[in-house]
Amino acid sequence: MVASEVHPFAKTGGLADVLGALPRALVKLGHHVDVVMPKYRTVSAGQPIGQITVTLGGQVDVADVSAVIDRGVRVVFITHPAYFERDYLYGIASRDYPDNPERFAFLSKAALTWAASTGHAYDVVHAHDWQAGLVPLLARRTVPEWQTNPPATVFTIHNLAYQGVFDASWLPRLGLGWDLMRIDALEYWSRISFLKGGIVFSGIITTVSPRYAQEIQTAELGFGFDGILASRSADLVGILNGIDYDQWDPERDVNLPVPFSASKMAGKAAAKRRVLEAFGLTGTTDIRRRPLVAMISRMVDQKGFDLLDQLSEALPALNASFVLLGSGEPRYEERWKQLAERHPNRVGVKIGFDDELAHVIEGGADMFLMPSRFEPCGLNQMYSLRYGTVPIVHATGGLFDTVHDVDRGTGRGTGFTFVEHSPVALLGALGRALEMFENRPGWRRIQRAGMREDFSWDASAREYVKVYERAISANRVGA
Ligand code: ADP
Repeated sequence: MVASEVHPFAKTGGLADVLGALPRALVKLGHHVDVVMPKYRTVSAGQPIGQITVTLGGQVDVADVSAVIDRGVRVVFITHPAYFERDYLYGIASRDYPDNPERFAFLSKAALTWAASTGHAYDVVHAHDWQAGLVPLLARRTVPEWQTNPPATVFTIHNLAYQGVFDASWLPRLGLGWDLMRIDALEYWSRISFLKGGIVFSGIITTVSPRYAQEIQTAELGFGFDGILASRSADLVGILNGIDYDQWDPERDVNLPVPFSASKMAGKAAAKRRVLEAFGLTGTTDIRRRPLVAMISRMVDQKGFDLLDQLSEALPALNASFVLLGSGEPRYEERWKQLAERHPNRVGVKIGFDDELAHVIEGGADMFLMPSRFEPCGLNQMYSLRYGTVPIVHATGGLFDTVHDVDRGTGRGTGFTFVEHSPVALLGALGRALEMFENRPGWRRIQRAGMREDFSWDASAREYVKVYERAISANRVGA
Protein backbone atom coordinates (compact mmCIF):
# COMPACT_ATOMS: atom_id res chain seq x y z
CA MET A 1 0.00 0.00 0.00
CA VAL A 2 1.08 3.56 -0.62
CA ALA A 3 -0.37 6.43 1.39
CA SER A 4 0.54 9.85 2.74
CA GLU A 5 -0.59 9.13 6.31
CA VAL A 6 -0.70 6.05 8.51
CA HIS A 7 -1.80 5.88 12.15
CA PRO A 8 0.06 6.06 14.54
CA PHE A 9 2.92 7.63 12.55
CA ALA A 10 1.16 10.60 10.95
CA LYS A 11 -2.50 11.57 10.92
CA THR A 12 -4.72 14.40 9.82
CA GLY A 13 -7.90 12.38 9.26
CA GLY A 14 -9.72 9.12 8.65
CA LEU A 15 -7.26 8.07 5.92
CA ALA A 16 -4.65 7.43 8.62
CA ASP A 17 -7.07 5.32 10.66
CA VAL A 18 -7.79 3.09 7.69
CA LEU A 19 -4.07 2.69 6.93
CA GLY A 20 -3.47 1.89 10.60
CA ALA A 21 -6.17 -0.77 10.78
CA LEU A 22 -6.76 -2.37 7.37
CA PRO A 23 -3.23 -3.75 6.82
CA ARG A 24 -3.31 -5.30 10.28
CA ALA A 25 -6.69 -6.93 9.58
CA LEU A 26 -5.29 -8.31 6.30
CA VAL A 27 -2.26 -9.72 8.11
CA LYS A 28 -4.63 -11.45 10.54
CA LEU A 29 -6.25 -13.09 7.53
CA GLY A 30 -2.86 -14.47 6.53
CA HIS A 31 -1.68 -11.92 3.97
CA HIS A 32 1.62 -10.07 3.78
CA VAL A 33 1.31 -6.28 3.66
CA ASP A 34 3.95 -3.57 3.33
CA VAL A 35 2.83 0.03 3.72
CA VAL A 36 4.96 2.85 2.30
CA MET A 37 4.71 6.44 3.55
CA PRO A 38 6.99 9.49 3.84
CA LYS A 39 9.33 9.89 6.75
CA TYR A 40 7.90 13.12 8.10
CA ARG A 41 9.58 15.07 10.86
CA THR A 42 7.29 13.42 13.42
CA VAL A 43 8.28 9.90 12.36
CA SER A 44 11.25 8.37 14.14
CA ALA A 45 13.58 6.69 11.68
CA GLY A 46 13.02 2.93 12.10
CA GLN A 47 15.59 0.35 10.96
CA PRO A 48 17.51 1.28 7.80
CA ILE A 49 16.71 -1.24 5.06
CA GLY A 50 18.44 0.26 2.05
CA GLN A 51 18.73 3.06 -0.44
CA ILE A 52 17.00 3.69 -3.73
CA THR A 53 17.69 5.96 -6.68
CA VAL A 54 14.63 7.87 -7.84
CA THR A 55 14.47 9.87 -11.06
CA LEU A 56 11.83 12.58 -11.26
CA GLY A 57 11.94 14.68 -14.41
CA GLY A 58 15.54 15.79 -14.73
CA GLN A 59 16.27 15.26 -11.07
CA VAL A 60 17.99 12.20 -9.62
CA ASP A 61 17.80 11.56 -5.87
CA VAL A 62 19.18 8.87 -3.64
CA ALA A 63 16.75 8.23 -0.78
CA ASP A 64 17.24 6.25 2.42
CA VAL A 65 14.57 3.68 3.17
CA SER A 66 13.81 2.49 6.70
CA ALA A 67 11.10 0.35 8.24
CA VAL A 68 9.39 -0.77 11.43
CA ILE A 69 7.22 -3.79 12.03
CA ASP A 70 4.02 -2.50 13.64
CA ARG A 71 1.77 -5.33 14.85
CA GLY A 72 2.68 -7.63 11.96
CA VAL A 73 2.70 -4.94 9.26
CA ARG A 74 5.91 -3.64 7.77
CA VAL A 75 5.69 0.15 7.54
CA VAL A 76 8.33 1.53 5.20
CA PHE A 77 9.48 5.15 5.38
CA ILE A 78 10.91 7.07 2.45
CA THR A 79 13.40 9.73 3.51
CA HIS A 80 13.74 12.97 1.58
CA PRO A 81 14.37 15.77 4.06
CA ALA A 82 13.73 18.60 1.59
CA TYR A 83 10.25 17.22 0.84
CA PHE A 84 9.11 15.73 4.12
CA GLU A 85 10.93 17.27 7.09
CA ARG A 86 8.35 20.03 7.47
CA ASP A 87 6.03 21.26 10.19
CA TYR A 88 2.87 19.99 8.47
CA LEU A 89 1.95 17.19 6.11
CA TYR A 90 0.35 19.14 3.29
CA GLY A 91 0.66 22.86 3.99
CA ILE A 92 0.28 25.67 6.46
CA ALA A 93 -3.32 26.44 7.49
CA SER A 94 -5.34 26.24 4.28
CA ARG A 95 -2.33 27.03 2.03
CA ASP A 96 -0.91 23.90 0.44
CA TYR A 97 2.84 23.61 -0.05
CA PRO A 98 3.43 24.72 -3.66
CA ASP A 99 5.64 21.71 -4.41
CA ASN A 100 3.03 19.12 -3.33
CA PRO A 101 2.85 17.61 -6.84
CA GLU A 102 6.58 16.98 -6.73
CA ARG A 103 6.54 15.72 -3.12
CA PHE A 104 3.84 13.13 -3.69
CA ALA A 105 4.92 12.12 -7.19
CA PHE A 106 8.26 11.43 -5.50
CA LEU A 107 6.58 9.36 -2.78
CA SER A 108 4.72 7.32 -5.42
CA LYS A 109 7.77 6.72 -7.56
CA ALA A 110 10.00 5.97 -4.58
CA ALA A 111 7.46 3.49 -3.17
CA LEU A 112 7.32 1.61 -6.48
CA THR A 113 11.08 1.73 -6.98
CA TRP A 114 11.58 0.30 -3.53
CA ALA A 115 8.91 -2.38 -4.01
CA ALA A 116 10.47 -3.50 -7.29
CA SER A 117 13.91 -3.59 -5.65
CA THR A 118 12.80 -6.07 -2.99
CA GLY A 119 12.32 -8.80 -5.57
CA HIS A 120 9.07 -9.63 -3.78
CA ALA A 121 6.31 -10.65 -6.19
CA TYR A 122 3.57 -8.31 -5.00
CA ASP A 123 0.15 -9.37 -6.26
CA VAL A 124 -1.42 -5.98 -5.72
CA VAL A 125 -0.36 -2.38 -5.25
CA HIS A 126 -3.05 -0.48 -3.35
CA ALA A 127 -2.84 3.33 -3.47
CA HIS A 128 -4.87 5.75 -1.36
CA ASP A 129 -6.21 9.22 -2.17
CA TRP A 130 -4.72 11.78 -4.57
CA GLN A 131 -1.29 11.79 -2.91
CA ALA A 132 -0.77 8.25 -4.22
CA GLY A 133 -2.91 8.82 -7.32
CA LEU A 134 0.00 8.44 -9.76
CA VAL A 135 0.89 4.99 -8.41
CA PRO A 136 -1.33 2.91 -10.76
CA LEU A 137 0.01 4.81 -13.77
CA LEU A 138 3.65 4.72 -12.68
CA ALA A 139 3.48 1.03 -11.80
CA ARG A 140 3.20 0.22 -15.51
CA ARG A 141 5.27 3.01 -16.95
CA THR A 142 8.33 3.42 -14.84
CA VAL A 143 9.28 0.17 -13.16
CA PRO A 144 11.28 -1.77 -15.77
CA GLU A 145 10.84 -5.06 -13.89
CA TRP A 146 7.06 -4.66 -14.05
CA GLN A 147 6.58 -3.59 -17.63
CA THR A 148 5.69 -7.06 -18.84
CA ASN A 149 4.10 -8.38 -15.67
CA PRO A 150 2.87 -5.54 -13.44
CA PRO A 151 1.04 -6.16 -10.17
CA ALA A 152 -2.70 -5.51 -10.12
CA THR A 153 -3.65 -2.02 -8.92
CA VAL A 154 -6.39 -0.80 -6.57
CA PHE A 155 -7.08 2.83 -5.75
CA THR A 156 -9.19 4.01 -2.79
CA ILE A 157 -10.97 7.36 -2.53
CA HIS A 158 -11.31 8.40 1.10
CA ASN A 159 -12.40 11.93 0.33
CA LEU A 160 -13.48 13.04 -3.11
CA ALA A 161 -13.24 16.69 -2.08
CA TYR A 162 -9.43 16.56 -2.36
CA GLN A 163 -8.46 16.03 -5.98
CA GLY A 164 -4.79 16.94 -6.35
CA VAL A 165 -5.38 19.37 -9.22
CA PHE A 166 -2.28 21.17 -10.53
CA ASP A 167 -1.01 23.17 -13.45
CA ALA A 168 -0.27 21.06 -16.53
CA SER A 169 3.26 22.51 -16.66
CA TRP A 170 4.09 20.05 -13.87
CA LEU A 171 4.01 17.14 -16.33
CA PRO A 172 7.61 17.44 -17.63
CA ARG A 173 8.90 18.32 -14.18
CA LEU A 174 7.45 15.04 -12.91
CA GLY A 175 8.93 13.13 -15.82
CA LEU A 176 5.48 12.57 -17.34
CA GLY A 177 4.74 12.91 -21.03
CA TRP A 178 2.33 15.38 -22.64
CA ASP A 179 0.44 12.35 -23.92
CA LEU A 180 -1.16 12.25 -20.45
CA MET A 181 -2.84 15.60 -21.11
CA ARG A 182 -5.88 13.78 -22.46
CA ILE A 183 -9.44 13.54 -21.24
CA ASP A 184 -8.99 9.78 -20.71
CA ALA A 185 -5.76 10.29 -18.76
CA LEU A 186 -4.75 13.05 -16.28
CA GLU A 187 -6.35 16.10 -17.92
CA TYR A 188 -8.98 17.85 -15.82
CA TRP A 189 -10.32 21.18 -17.11
CA SER A 190 -6.98 22.08 -18.76
CA ARG A 191 -5.04 21.10 -15.67
CA ILE A 192 -3.92 17.72 -14.33
CA SER A 193 -5.46 15.77 -11.45
CA PHE A 194 -3.63 13.09 -9.48
CA LEU A 195 -6.98 11.80 -8.20
CA LYS A 196 -8.13 11.34 -11.76
CA GLY A 197 -4.93 9.41 -12.47
CA GLY A 198 -5.80 6.99 -9.69
CA ILE A 199 -9.33 6.55 -10.99
CA VAL A 200 -8.44 6.16 -14.66
CA PHE A 201 -5.40 3.89 -14.39
CA SER A 202 -6.22 1.54 -11.50
CA GLY A 203 -7.69 -1.92 -12.00
CA ILE A 204 -10.36 -1.39 -9.35
CA ILE A 205 -11.46 1.74 -7.49
CA THR A 206 -12.91 1.58 -4.02
CA THR A 207 -14.45 4.12 -1.69
CA VAL A 208 -15.44 3.91 1.96
CA SER A 209 -19.12 2.98 1.82
CA PRO A 210 -21.41 1.35 -0.77
CA ARG A 211 -23.86 4.26 -0.76
CA TYR A 212 -21.10 6.86 -1.24
CA ALA A 213 -19.83 4.79 -4.20
CA GLN A 214 -23.21 5.46 -5.85
CA GLU A 215 -23.53 9.07 -4.74
CA ILE A 216 -20.18 10.19 -6.14
CA GLN A 217 -21.44 9.22 -9.58
CA THR A 218 -24.13 11.90 -9.36
CA ALA A 219 -23.77 15.60 -10.14
CA GLU A 220 -24.87 16.52 -6.61
CA LEU A 221 -22.08 14.72 -4.74
CA GLY A 222 -19.58 14.02 -7.51
CA PHE A 223 -17.55 17.23 -7.04
CA GLY A 224 -17.03 17.40 -10.81
CA PHE A 225 -15.84 13.79 -10.94
CA ASP A 226 -19.26 12.17 -11.44
CA GLY A 227 -18.73 11.62 -15.17
CA ILE A 228 -15.27 10.13 -14.72
CA LEU A 229 -16.49 7.84 -11.94
CA ALA A 230 -19.61 6.83 -13.82
CA SER A 231 -17.42 5.80 -16.77
CA ARG A 232 -15.69 3.32 -14.41
CA SER A 233 -18.88 2.30 -12.65
CA ALA A 234 -18.30 -1.43 -13.23
CA ASP A 235 -15.01 -1.26 -11.35
CA LEU A 236 -16.10 1.01 -8.49
CA VAL A 237 -16.75 -0.74 -5.18
CA GLY A 238 -17.87 0.66 -1.81
CA ILE A 239 -16.48 -0.98 1.31
CA LEU A 240 -17.38 0.34 4.75
CA ASN A 241 -14.56 1.31 7.05
CA GLY A 242 -14.41 -0.78 10.18
CA ILE A 243 -14.11 0.55 13.70
CA ASP A 244 -11.48 -0.32 16.24
CA TYR A 245 -13.22 -2.33 18.94
CA ASP A 246 -10.08 -2.25 21.07
CA GLN A 247 -10.77 1.46 21.48
CA TRP A 248 -14.54 1.58 21.17
CA ASP A 249 -16.29 -1.10 23.18
CA PRO A 250 -18.44 -0.22 26.22
CA GLU A 251 -17.54 -3.51 27.93
CA ARG A 252 -13.84 -2.58 28.17
CA ASP A 253 -13.76 1.19 27.70
CA VAL A 254 -11.50 2.55 30.45
CA ASN A 255 -12.92 6.05 29.99
CA LEU A 256 -16.39 5.02 31.21
CA PRO A 257 -17.18 5.32 34.94
CA VAL A 258 -18.80 1.85 34.82
CA PRO A 259 -18.50 -0.48 31.80
CA PHE A 260 -21.72 -1.80 30.30
CA SER A 261 -23.10 -4.20 27.72
CA ALA A 262 -26.42 -4.99 26.03
CA SER A 263 -27.38 -7.27 28.91
CA LYS A 264 -26.06 -5.02 31.71
CA MET A 265 -26.95 -1.43 30.91
CA ALA A 266 -26.64 0.20 34.36
CA GLY A 267 -23.27 1.74 33.45
CA LYS A 268 -24.96 3.84 30.80
CA ALA A 269 -26.82 5.86 33.44
CA ALA A 270 -23.54 6.45 35.30
CA ALA A 271 -21.96 7.73 32.08
CA LYS A 272 -24.96 10.00 31.48
CA ARG A 273 -24.51 11.61 34.92
CA ARG A 274 -20.81 12.11 34.12
CA VAL A 275 -21.64 13.80 30.81
CA LEU A 276 -24.26 16.10 32.37
CA GLU A 277 -21.76 17.13 35.04
CA ALA A 278 -19.02 17.73 32.47
CA PHE A 279 -21.32 20.06 30.57
CA GLY A 280 -22.76 21.74 33.66
CA LEU A 281 -26.30 20.48 33.03
CA THR A 282 -27.02 19.83 36.69
CA GLY A 283 -29.72 22.37 37.52
CA THR A 284 -32.86 20.24 38.05
CA THR A 285 -33.64 16.53 38.53
CA ASP A 286 -35.73 16.78 35.39
CA ILE A 287 -32.51 17.07 33.38
CA ARG A 288 -31.46 13.54 34.25
CA ARG A 289 -34.75 12.08 33.04
CA ARG A 290 -34.86 14.04 29.82
CA PRO A 291 -33.31 12.36 26.76
CA LEU A 292 -29.77 13.54 26.10
CA VAL A 293 -28.90 14.23 22.46
CA ALA A 294 -25.18 14.44 21.68
CA MET A 295 -22.94 15.62 18.86
CA ILE A 296 -19.17 15.20 18.49
CA SER A 297 -18.08 16.82 15.29
CA ARG A 298 -16.01 19.13 13.19
CA MET A 299 -18.19 22.26 13.06
CA VAL A 300 -18.41 22.75 9.31
CA ASP A 301 -21.09 22.77 6.62
CA GLN A 302 -20.32 19.17 5.61
CA LYS A 303 -21.48 18.07 9.05
CA GLY A 304 -24.80 19.93 8.74
CA PHE A 305 -24.07 22.93 10.93
CA ASP A 306 -25.82 25.23 8.47
CA LEU A 307 -28.96 23.18 8.99
CA LEU A 308 -28.61 23.24 12.77
CA ASP A 309 -28.31 27.03 12.64
CA GLN A 310 -31.87 27.19 11.41
CA LEU A 311 -33.03 25.19 14.42
CA SER A 312 -31.58 27.34 17.20
CA GLU A 313 -35.08 28.21 18.44
CA ALA A 314 -36.68 24.83 17.79
CA LEU A 315 -34.14 22.52 19.47
CA PRO A 316 -34.22 24.08 22.97
CA ALA A 317 -38.03 24.00 22.85
CA LEU A 318 -38.02 20.18 22.69
CA ASN A 319 -38.20 17.91 25.69
CA ALA A 320 -34.50 17.04 25.45
CA SER A 321 -31.03 18.26 26.41
CA PHE A 322 -28.22 18.77 23.91
CA VAL A 323 -24.47 18.48 24.31
CA LEU A 324 -21.94 19.35 21.64
CA LEU A 325 -18.20 18.66 21.63
CA GLY A 326 -16.46 20.09 18.61
CA SER A 327 -14.51 22.80 16.91
CA GLY A 328 -14.40 24.30 13.47
CA GLU A 329 -15.67 27.42 11.78
CA PRO A 330 -15.61 30.37 14.22
CA ARG A 331 -19.16 31.47 13.31
CA TYR A 332 -20.56 28.08 14.30
CA GLU A 333 -18.50 27.93 17.49
CA GLU A 334 -19.81 31.39 18.42
CA ARG A 335 -23.44 30.53 17.74
CA TRP A 336 -23.34 27.35 19.79
CA LYS A 337 -21.66 29.12 22.70
CA GLN A 338 -24.44 31.70 22.61
CA LEU A 339 -27.07 28.98 22.46
CA ALA A 340 -25.61 27.37 25.59
CA GLU A 341 -25.62 30.72 27.38
CA ARG A 342 -29.25 31.33 26.51
CA HIS A 343 -30.34 27.82 27.57
CA PRO A 344 -28.04 26.79 30.43
CA ASN A 345 -30.34 23.91 31.46
CA ARG A 346 -30.84 22.58 27.96
CA VAL A 347 -27.67 23.04 25.94
CA GLY A 348 -24.05 22.29 26.87
CA VAL A 349 -21.15 23.13 24.57
CA LYS A 350 -17.44 22.40 24.71
CA ILE A 351 -15.24 23.82 21.99
CA GLY A 352 -12.13 21.70 21.52
CA PHE A 353 -10.90 18.18 20.84
CA ASP A 354 -11.16 15.73 23.74
CA ASP A 355 -10.91 12.03 23.00
CA GLU A 356 -11.61 10.91 26.57
CA LEU A 357 -14.75 13.00 26.82
CA ALA A 358 -15.84 11.74 23.40
CA HIS A 359 -15.86 8.21 24.84
CA VAL A 360 -17.91 9.24 27.88
CA ILE A 361 -20.38 11.08 25.64
CA GLU A 362 -20.81 8.03 23.41
CA GLY A 363 -21.45 6.03 26.57
CA GLY A 364 -23.77 8.47 28.33
CA ALA A 365 -25.93 10.02 25.62
CA ASP A 366 -29.32 8.59 24.71
CA MET A 367 -29.18 9.76 21.11
CA PHE A 368 -26.49 10.90 18.70
CA LEU A 369 -27.23 13.47 16.01
CA MET A 370 -25.35 13.45 12.65
CA PRO A 371 -27.06 15.69 10.11
CA SER A 372 -24.13 15.57 7.63
CA ARG A 373 -24.78 16.97 4.17
CA PHE A 374 -22.56 14.17 2.81
CA GLU A 375 -20.58 11.52 4.67
CA PRO A 376 -18.21 9.14 2.85
CA CYS A 377 -18.35 6.70 5.78
CA GLY A 378 -18.55 8.35 9.20
CA LEU A 379 -17.37 6.76 12.42
CA ASN A 380 -19.41 8.28 15.22
CA GLN A 381 -22.67 6.66 14.17
CA MET A 382 -20.94 3.27 14.39
CA TYR A 383 -19.51 4.07 17.83
CA SER A 384 -22.98 5.21 18.89
CA LEU A 385 -24.61 1.96 17.78
CA ARG A 386 -22.05 0.02 19.78
CA TYR A 387 -22.75 2.11 22.90
CA GLY A 388 -26.54 1.85 22.76
CA THR A 389 -26.73 5.52 21.80
CA VAL A 390 -29.40 5.69 19.13
CA PRO A 391 -28.23 7.60 16.04
CA ILE A 392 -30.36 10.19 14.26
CA VAL A 393 -28.78 10.76 10.87
CA HIS A 394 -29.21 12.21 7.41
CA ALA A 395 -29.60 9.21 5.09
CA THR A 396 -26.42 9.82 3.10
CA GLY A 397 -23.21 7.89 2.34
CA GLY A 398 -22.00 5.67 5.15
CA LEU A 399 -24.78 6.93 7.43
CA PHE A 400 -27.35 5.48 5.02
CA ASP A 401 -25.48 2.16 5.00
CA THR A 402 -25.03 1.76 8.74
CA VAL A 403 -28.20 3.12 10.37
CA HIS A 404 -31.50 1.34 9.72
CA ASP A 405 -34.53 3.55 10.15
CA VAL A 406 -36.93 2.36 12.84
CA ASP A 407 -40.12 1.10 11.25
CA ARG A 408 -43.22 2.75 12.70
CA GLY A 409 -45.25 -0.45 12.48
CA THR A 410 -42.84 -3.12 13.73
CA GLY A 411 -40.49 -0.93 15.80
CA ARG A 412 -37.55 -2.69 14.17
CA GLY A 413 -34.45 -0.73 13.24
CA THR A 414 -31.32 0.75 14.80
CA GLY A 415 -31.87 4.51 14.49
CA PHE A 416 -33.81 7.35 12.92
CA THR A 417 -32.98 8.70 9.49
CA PHE A 418 -34.18 11.62 7.37
CA VAL A 419 -33.94 11.79 3.61
CA GLU A 420 -34.33 15.43 2.62
CA HIS A 421 -31.51 17.61 3.99
CA SER A 422 -33.83 20.16 5.57
CA PRO A 423 -34.54 21.49 9.09
CA VAL A 424 -38.10 20.13 8.92
CA ALA A 425 -36.93 16.64 8.00
CA LEU A 426 -34.31 16.67 10.77
CA LEU A 427 -36.95 17.72 13.30
CA GLY A 428 -39.23 14.97 12.03
CA ALA A 429 -36.64 12.25 12.71
CA LEU A 430 -35.71 13.76 16.06
CA GLY A 431 -39.40 13.96 17.00
CA ARG A 432 -39.91 10.28 16.17
CA ALA A 433 -36.91 9.40 18.33
CA LEU A 434 -38.13 11.47 21.29
CA GLU A 435 -41.54 9.85 21.04
CA MET A 436 -40.06 6.35 20.94
CA PHE A 437 -37.83 7.16 23.91
CA GLU A 438 -40.95 7.23 26.10
CA ASN A 439 -41.67 3.61 25.15
CA ARG A 440 -39.02 1.93 27.32
CA PRO A 441 -39.25 -1.65 25.93
CA GLY A 442 -39.36 -0.31 22.37
CA TRP A 443 -36.31 1.88 23.03
CA ARG A 444 -34.35 -0.99 24.63
CA ARG A 445 -35.02 -3.09 21.56
CA ILE A 446 -33.59 -0.41 19.25
CA GLN A 447 -30.54 -0.05 21.48
CA ARG A 448 -29.93 -3.80 21.55
CA ALA A 449 -30.35 -4.12 17.80
CA GLY A 450 -27.64 -1.47 17.30
CA MET A 451 -25.30 -2.99 19.86
CA ARG A 452 -25.46 -6.32 18.03
CA GLU A 453 -24.26 -4.89 14.69
CA ASP A 454 -20.75 -5.91 13.61
CA PHE A 455 -18.53 -3.17 12.19
CA SER A 456 -15.22 -4.90 12.85
CA TRP A 457 -12.30 -4.41 10.48
CA ASP A 458 -12.22 -8.14 10.04
CA ALA A 459 -15.41 -8.06 7.96
CA SER A 460 -14.19 -5.09 5.87
CA ALA A 461 -10.77 -6.67 5.30
CA ARG A 462 -12.49 -9.73 3.79
CA GLU A 463 -14.25 -7.41 1.35
CA TYR A 464 -10.90 -5.88 0.37
CA VAL A 465 -9.47 -9.35 -0.22
CA LYS A 466 -12.32 -10.00 -2.67
CA VAL A 467 -11.48 -6.75 -4.44
CA TYR A 468 -7.79 -7.72 -4.64
CA GLU A 469 -8.72 -11.09 -6.11
CA ARG A 470 -10.90 -9.40 -8.70
CA ALA A 471 -8.16 -6.93 -9.55
CA ILE A 472 -5.65 -9.78 -9.94
CA SER A 473 -7.83 -11.75 -12.33
CA ALA A 474 -8.69 -8.63 -14.35
CA ASN A 475 -4.97 -7.89 -14.53
CA ARG A 476 -4.24 -11.37 -15.92
CA VAL A 477 -6.90 -10.98 -18.57
CA GLY A 478 -5.61 -7.50 -19.46
CA ALA A 479 -1.94 -8.57 -19.63
P1 ADP B 1 -14.60 13.17 9.91
O1 ADP B 1 -13.43 12.26 9.70
O2 ADP B 1 -15.26 13.61 8.65
O3 ADP B 1 -14.32 14.32 10.81
P2 ADP B 1 -15.81 10.85 11.23
O4 ADP B 1 -17.10 10.63 11.93
O5 ADP B 1 -15.46 9.89 10.16
O6 ADP B 1 -15.77 12.34 10.69
O7 ADP B 1 -14.64 10.79 12.30
C1 ADP B 1 -14.43 11.78 13.23
C2 ADP B 1 -13.62 11.22 14.37
O8 ADP B 1 -13.06 12.28 15.13
C3 ADP B 1 -14.44 10.41 15.33
O9 ADP B 1 -13.64 9.42 15.90
C4 ADP B 1 -14.85 11.47 16.38
O10 ADP B 1 -15.16 10.91 17.62
C5 ADP B 1 -13.61 12.29 16.43
N1 ADP B 1 -13.86 13.68 16.83
C6 ADP B 1 -14.33 14.68 16.05
N2 ADP B 1 -14.38 15.84 16.75
C7 ADP B 1 -13.94 15.56 18.00
C8 ADP B 1 -13.74 16.34 19.19
N3 ADP B 1 -14.02 17.63 19.21
N4 ADP B 1 -13.25 15.73 20.28
C9 ADP B 1 -12.97 14.40 20.24
N5 ADP B 1 -13.13 13.61 19.16
C10 ADP B 1 -13.59 14.18 18.05
